[in-house]
Amino acid sequence: MSILYIFIFILGLVAGSFLNVVIYRLETEEKIVNDRSRCPKCKHVLSWLDLFPVFSFLLLKGKCRYCLKKISWQYPLVEIGTGILFVLVAFYFPYFSFQLLSTKLFYLLLIISALIVVSVFDIRHYIIPDKIIFPAIAVSLVYNFVVDFVLNDYMRLDYVFSGNGLISVLFLLLFASQFFNTLVAAFSAFGFFLIIFLLTKGNGMGGGDVKLAFLMGLILGWPLILLAVFLSFIFGSIFGLALIFAGKKKMKSMVPFGPFLVAGTFVSLFWGEIIIKWYFNLFIF
Ligand SMILES: [Zn+2]
Repeated sequence: MSILYIFIFILGLVAGSFLNVVIYRLETEEKIVNDRSRCPKCKHVLSWLDLFPVFSFLLLKGKCRYCLKKISWQYPLVEIGTGILFVLVAFYFPYFSFQLLSTKLFYLLLIISALIVVSVFDIRHYIIPDKIIFPAIAVSLVYNFVVDFVLNDYMRLDYVFSGNGLISVLFLLLFASQFFNTLVAAFSAFGFFLIIFLLTKGNGMGGGDVKLAFLMGLILGWPLILLAVFLSFIFGSIFGLALIFAGKKKMKSMVPFGPFLVAGTFVSLFWGEIIIKWYFNLFIF
C-alpha cells in the first residue's frame, strides 16, 4: 500500500515540474508543449540532469548550472506541494485499486493541478488566468454530468420508461442529483463574489475570484462550498493581519485572494465532512 503512495508522490513531483513549465509559459505566452525547457534567466536549454523535480534544485544548490543565477523557490515548492496534494487525493479518494485512472481520482488530480497553477499565477501577477479557469470549469461540468447521468444507476433506460419513471427522473434531475447540487453551489458562490466585486468596485475582489468561486462550487457542491468560502476568508484575514503586524503591508496594499480560495477548497475537499460533523456535534449537548 505504502509503495503506491510513494509512486503517487513521485507522480506529483513530476506533475509539479510540468505545472512550473505551464506557469512560466503562461507568463511568456509560449506554447505549453513543443519546446525544450530553458533557464528563465539565461535561456540556456536545460539538460535532463537539470529537470529532476526537487533533486536538481538541491544538487545545484538553487542556482542555474549555466549562469549561476538563483532559481526561484517556486520550483521546488510547487513540486513538493503537488506531490503532497496528489498523496492526499489518493488517501482520501482511494479509487485506484484496480483502475489506476478511475474517473474521480483522475478528475481530482487534474483539477488540483489547475488550482495550483491558478494560485501561483495569482500570487505572481494578481491575475487568475482564463486559459486555466475556463477549461477547468468545462471539465468539471462534463465530469459532474457524466458521473451523475451516465455512470449512476437511476438513469437506466428501463427505469425511465417504467411506470412513474419519468416523474422520478425529473425529481432526481432537479433535486437529488449531484449535478444539480454542484450547479446550485457554483451559482451561489458566483453570485456572492459578484456582489462583493460590484460593491467594492473591483478593489477587494478581482473578476477572476468570481470565476474561481464558480469553479469551486462545481468541485465541492453544497454544503462544502459554504465551508470553503468561510475558510478562505479566515485564512485571508489571518494572513492579512500577520502581514500588518509584521509591518510588511499597510491596510490598503493588495493581497491576491485566489490562493486563499484555493486553500479553502483543498481543506474542504479533504477534511470538509469531518469539520462539518465536528461543528454540528458542538451543539448536541
Ligand atoms: Zn541560467
